[in-house]
Amino acid sequence: MHRDDSRTSQLRERLNAVRLRIGKAAAAAGRTTAPQLIVVSKFHPAEDVRRLASLGVLDFGENRDQEATEKSGLLGDLPLRWHFVGQLQSNKAKSVVRYAHAVHSVDRPQIAGALAKAVAAQLEGSSRDPLKCFIQVNLDDHPQGHRGGALPADVGSLADHLAELEGLELAGLMAVAPLGGDPRKAFAKLAGISASLTSVHPQATGISAGMSQDLEAAIEFGATHLRIGSDILGSRPALG
Ligand SMILES: *Cc1c(COP(=O)(O)O)cnc(C)c1O
Repeated sequence: MHRDDSRTSQLRERLNAVRLRIGKAAAAAGRTTAPQLIVVSKFHPAEDVRRLASLGVLDFGENRDQEATEKSGLLGDLPLRWHFVGQLQSNKAKSVVRYAHAVHSVDRPQIAGALAKAVAAQLEGSSRDPLKCFIQVNLDDHPQGHRGGALPADVGSLADHLAELEGLELAGLMAVAPLGGDPRKAFAKLAGISASLTSVHPQATGISAGMSQDLEAAIEFGATHLRIGSDILGSRPALG
């Protein structure tokens, strides 16, 4: 890869624009620490991740295990932190813990248990930092089953369970603003759930919220981690 090819220039411009938005929103909210930017690289090639790494980004998000395994393998020479942000099946836990620094989509006890078991198996061979786990919360006012996050009423017990598991670190909460709704309303609700969580688990201060379309609203309501894809990398196939 040529270090200053045109794609790198394009990524630099878009990254700078997003960083500017983040800075403005943080200032408007009177925040002194800017949230952590995670670039969601799903559907985009490993070379783009390498380009962004050359621009100073080290945190990347992926939502499918196979794609994340491939990319993290191709980029093993870089000090990247991979964030798994997609729906997770227990049978993928073993694979995910091989590359993941954090999992943002823990939404039921079975997943937490599978991740803990996988980290323990991995630890027998080597040492690793505890796996940071965000509990994904479903912010829909009328949730259809438990897809895409734990119900707000179940967050407390899931957090208690997760906090007891060796090898996992309860990092906080994650949510996606429901389609079509007001993201400010959703992120205000998330902030309330986070306040209840930290009253019991004071270290679990993370709030992973905010995507390309709603990062300003997320920052206003206390997001500590932003997951930005398309506004930096461009569009991707519709089924992302
Ligand atoms: C794809 C994805 C993102 C990034 O969304 P953009 O709208 O492209 O910024 C963030 N979070 C999750 C869970 C995702 O799947």
